[in-house]
Amino acid sequence: MIPFLDIKAMHAELKPELDAAYRRVMDSGWFVLGREVEAFEAEYAAFCGTTHCVGVGNGLEALELVLRAWDIGAGDEVIVPSNTYIATWLAVTAVGARVVPVEPTANGPNIDPDRIARAITARTRAIMPVHLYGEPADMDSIKAIAGRHGLRVVEDVAQAQGAKVRGRRCGSLGHAGAHSFYPTKNLGALGDAGAVTTDDVALANRIRVLRNYGSRVKYVNIERGFNSRLDELQAAFLRAKLLRLDGWNQHRRAVAARYLDRLSGIPGLGLPRAPQWAEPVWHLYVVRTPRRDELMGRLDRAGIGSLIHYPIPPHLQQAYASLGFGKGSLPLAEAMADTVLSLPMDAYLGLDAVDEIARVVRAALA
Ligand SMILES: *Cc1c(COP(=O)(O)O)cnc(C)c1O
Repeated sequence: MIPFLDIKAMHAELKPELDAAYRRVMDSGWFVLGREVEAFEAEYAAFCGTTHCVGVGNGLEALELVLRAWDIGAGDEVIVPSNTYIATWLAVTAVGARVVPVEPTANGPNIDPDRIARAITARTRAIMPVHLYGEPADMDSIKAIAGRHGLRVVEDVAQAQGAKVRGRRCGSLGHAGAHSFYPTKNLGALGDAGAVTTDDVALANRIRVLRNYGSRVKYVNIERGFNSRLDELQAAFLRAKLLRLDGWNQHRRAVAARYLDRLSGIPGLGLPRAPQWAEPVWHLYVVRTPRRDELMGRLDRAGIGSLIHYPIPPHLQQAYASLGFGKGSLPLAEAMADTVLSLPMDAYLGLDAVDEIARVVRAALA
């Protein structure tokens, strides 16, 4: 049996550090926005290479608070990938702005810069690229387009903590980076958590106010804010895990290299190939085949976990039926949804397990 993801292996190894983090917070008697949060914000900003990090409640709210801090709302358009998790879209529609979906490059999975340029209108305010599956989007091209049109760029870094473009971390490449620390992400809390990274002090300060009821000084509310605070326990757990993140990502790269070696040359099987300027962190290892459902069944019968990320693109979800995108309106995202399959991938997956998985895949597609 090879599970899709083995979080328990990681937590078994980290138990002493996590227990110590728990005890520190219990002994402090302080549970929301305190010393652990401040320390994590400083450590995570340093890790990402930004001057500021603001801890918030989760990844969706990190995206949403960036848009609110830029006063993006009704009448504005935000360019998003057609091929993404629905959270990217939900952040835009939550502030009342219009999503303008843009298709991925031919080999995917990320947004195509050439198509971004064609989707810009007089109402466009921001571009929200996603580093899907831990593979960096083409930020050089996206930043150049944004610069020409005076647009803001907020990176959705939920799947790419630690990934780099030409030596610089995702989350430091746009005007802001929105991070999720949902437990299954490369850097995961033991519950919900998120953060915004940026070099823009005004943006960081506004998000600090917005996340805490619109207040900088207790009981003085300078605007209508939200409750999206990071709690001390999660920050303490994240501090312990952050020390391991680069090592974990390095192991994920070894797993991906092994998959590439063992799965190469299987007819009809598309393998992920990151551009040479990108250093991905392999949040997911996603292969493509028109025989996806059959392959998933074979893996399941062999005791190997696999998942589909994602089976229904946002524009075909009932939640967005009112936007009027029909089937066939975003064919590349739809083709991805019909053919992608995520194989087991995590920081504790053995290379012998990868060999076993590859044997089953090869036999299934032979
Ligand atoms: C997980 C995820 C989010 C949302 O993060 P939460 O912490 O669950 O709110 C946003 N975008 C992408 C691409 C994600 O994978």
